[in-house]
Amino acid sequence: MEIEREALIKKGKTNNIFLTNIEEILEIEASDRVYSDDPCVIKEISGKGKINNEISMYCFMLLEKNGIKTHFINIGTNDSSKFVRKLDMIKLEVICRRYSDGSFCKRFGCKKGIEIEPCAVEFSLKDDNLKDPFIPKFAIEHMNIATKEEIDYIEKITIIVSDLLSEYFDNLGIRLIDFKIEFGRDEDGNLLIGDEISPDTCRLVDKETGKSLDKDLVLENIDDVKSAYMKVLERVQTT
Ligand code: 5GP
Repeated sequence: MEIEREALIKKGKTNNIFLTNIEEILEIEASDRVYSDDPCVIKEISGKGKINNEISMYCFMLLEKNGIKTHFINIGTNDSSKFVRKLDMIKLEVICRRYSDGSFCKRFGCKKGIEIEPCAVEFSLKDDNLKDPFIPKFAIEHMNIATKEEIDYIEKITIIVSDLLSEYFDNLGIRLIDFKIEFGRDEDGNLLIGDEISPDTCRLVDKETGKSLDKDLVLENIDDVKSAYMKVLERVQTT
């Protein structure tokens, strides 16, 4: 049966989510909005949604090819969107750090760019009002957000994802600094990776120039953002 888009059910910070004619399938459309939360900045970059959607689809296909279960099904009704399996999303941001940067450096006063080996997985509570604070594992269990077995599984899969993405980007001349992924449960309780994987959710650096290729550029020059995202897409398209 052909999948058709139906009503908009959620307008997120950067993605819009639609129902489809099939109950278990949603359509996620990447908008041109770009969002940074520290400091809080929301801007529009024409064409960003399409670029991000394509990068995200490549990343999900890479993971699927390597046996990692994700929500990705296929490209959606336009170039900015994808069809995905409906999941019951877990209210956690799962962050993996390979080099020190961002909130890690701010919180602990450490220098940027120090390799974290083996890579480290940490969790933030997904809550805009609380500004997505760091959450320890005991609190995740205590608040019934996820069980101990689920947390262990999420950590294990995130490390595999980290190695796959890092090797993939490294071959494209890009260093993966850190990234955020989200997990959800399908109707049988299996954990799948949802949301997106893109320069909005990963810190990426050009290995040759050392220049940032991700949304951190929003805080510098908005014109650089689209060309940086395009550079990532052009390299991803060669794979
Ligand atoms: P940090 O905690 O250093 O700000 O972010 C670590 C990594 O997770 C970065 O790659 C960043 O892009 C990603 N990340 C953390 N929180 C969010 C969020 O709320 N939204 C998105 N899109 N990415 C996030």
